Amino acid sequence: LREDSSFWKDHNVQVIIRIRPLSSSEISVQGNSKCIKQESCQTITWTGHPESRFTFDLVADEHVSQENLFKVAGLPMVENCMGGYNSCMFAYGQTGSGKTHTMLGDIEGGTRRHSVNCGMIPRVFEHLFTRIQKEKDIRKDEKLRFTCKCSFLEIYNEQILDLLDPSSTNLQIREDMKKGVYVENLKEIEVTSARDVIQLLIQGAANRKVAATNMNHASSRSHSVFTCIIESKWESQAVTHHRFARLNLVDLAGSERQKSSGAEGERLKEATNINKSLSTLGLVIMNLVNISNGKSLHVPYRDSKLTFLLQAVVNEDASGDVVAMRLQIQQLKKEVSRLRSFVNGRT
Ligand code: ADP
Ligand code: MG
Repeated sequence: LREDSSFWKDHNVQVIIRIRPLSSSEISVQGNSKCIKQESCQTITWTGHPESRFTFDLVADEHVSQENLFKVAGLPMVENCMGGYNSCMFAYGQTGSGKTHTMLGDIEGGTRRHSVNCGMIPRVFEHLFTRIQKEKDIRKDEKLRFTCKCSFLEIYNEQILDLLDPSSTNLQIREDMKKGVYVENLKEIEVTSARDVIQLLIQGAANRKVAATNMNHASSRSHSVFTCIIESKWESQAVTHHRFARLNLVDLAGSERQKSSGAEGERLKEATNINKSLSTLGLVIMNLVNISNGKSLHVPYRDSKLTFLLQAVVNEDASGDVVAMRLQIQQLKKEVSRLRSFVNGRT
């Protein structure tokens, strides 16, 4: 497992596969039958019939610790955000494959160094606040200030619930020229330490359980989205500068095919919605990758609540429109400097 972050530099979208260890019941029932073999740091083979090979940006086998996975996947995201870039991480996989273990892990244990099972989100915030403090110390003269605001929501059956405000129901996504895409009436809570974040995670996880019971679903059939907006302000040469970055950490609904055959009413709607939001997410990511490779494609953000909500993040970094706009600005700048030298040459 490479711990340098250089492999992030070339691409906006990276896919890491994490192989979890067999559980004790799997070992006892199936006689320790592992069906995946790691071939290289990027390739695995599924040892079924017929054998199939799959390639990813990185393979993390069952021996990769929470800490090392954070160093490879989480740390570069924090660095990105410190630089003012939006970042987003999804955990995708079947129920029981280790999504929540990877994203949250053992949160009750806090971020103490000894809590080996502490997951990605707490580690990301522990590092973020360490970085913020360092940056503030280095840039004392610029009066650098940071504000971090977090929200935690669940999308179940194409309805948004605020996990930090259990009384909320069916919140709406709005678009605003200034704010961009946002969820109306969603609680945003300011945090100043990883401990604050863990409190929110514990509160949200408890509300997720209650919501699941009330609405008669398992939490594996909803997406949970933890978002932090990091705002920084500093002064240089009597000018105040602002920078925003959005960090989204998403634990997706189980990717097992939701059976709609035989289901009726609410259950049918639920199955259709989960299949649709995951396939829309796949299509959005695929089209963004193709756009960054020069193709011109429509990105169907609006086809699901999840992608509509997250579009601000992907949009600014990878969308064709923004890339095209940046190119236009570059060209205009060139044109201006050409005109300038032309005028200067004549006078
Ligand atoms: P999901 O959220 O995808 O449904 P979980 O994260 O709840 O799956 O994981 C299912 C079980 O497997 C849990 O008991 C979890 O602790 C365990 N598990 C998952 N990944 C790992 C791992 N990398 N190392 C050890 N245990 C793991
Ligand atoms: Mg889970």
